[in-house]
Amino acid sequence: MIVARDLAYAYPRGGFGLRVPALDLAAGEKLAVVGPSGSGKSTLLDLIAGIRRPDGGALLVDGVDVPALSEAGRRAFRAARIGFVFQTFELIDYLSARDNILYPYMISPALRLDAAVRARAGALAQAAGVADKLDRRPGDLSQGERQRVAICRALVAKPRLILADEATGNLDPANKGVVLDLLFAQAADAGAAVLAVTHDHDLLPRFDRVVDFAGFADRSAA
Ligand code: ADP
Ligand code: MG
Repeated sequence: MIVARDLAYAYPRGGFGLRVPALDLAAGEKLAVVGPSGSGKSTLLDLIAGIRRPDGGALLVDGVDVPALSEAGRRAFRAARIGFVFQTFELIDYLSARDNILYPYMISPALRLDAAVRARAGALAQAAGVADKLDRRPGDLSQGERQRVAICRALVAKPRLILADEATGNLDPANKGVVLDLLFAQAADAGAAVLAVTHDHDLLPRFDRVVDFAGFADRSAA
């Protein structure tokens, strides 16, 4: 699902550079990424999702040379194959929680919104415990509710790869378990792989593998 070699990225402004000699993720595998704050974990997810383009190295995601795609191509690839739970949620303020969950269907011509999709969105919201909040806008939800809406949005289009950036970070212990169960059940159902950045060390035994990101940052890069 992911093959990365000698991946390098430096922010145009600012002294941070990321260097990843090798990172692999098999289809259906569940990988946790841990590491200190500022070590480049979110940057790595941006590279994998094609939000940022690496300066060097090789990156295949689901067999596709993502950095070689145009910006529009990367956007379409992301919408069709990747479910991304952003660390900062990135919900759309003026849309209801329901429409936020359905958002991939509004922006991707490859996805068709029909009654079955609406039912699926409702079922995901139910499983995530936000079914009674679907008419509210993000501003009228708690942090934990926003996070769960963002997770439903990431899962609704049955992505091949789920990228989750501290997706359990704002939740109480009971809801952490619920959300991880939901992520893993959806992944198993769709045969999807999961790459999750997490600080919750008690959740690590539930992953197939753990990569420690300490050491990947190259502070001399920029
Ligand atoms: P992590 O997710 O591991 O906490 P990040 O990938 O968010 O780390 O950030 C890695 C480093 O890159 C940090 O030092 C951060 O300050 C820096 N950084 C993040 N975004 C930008 C940006 N847009 N411009 C410049 N530097 C950035
Ligand atoms: Mg981060």
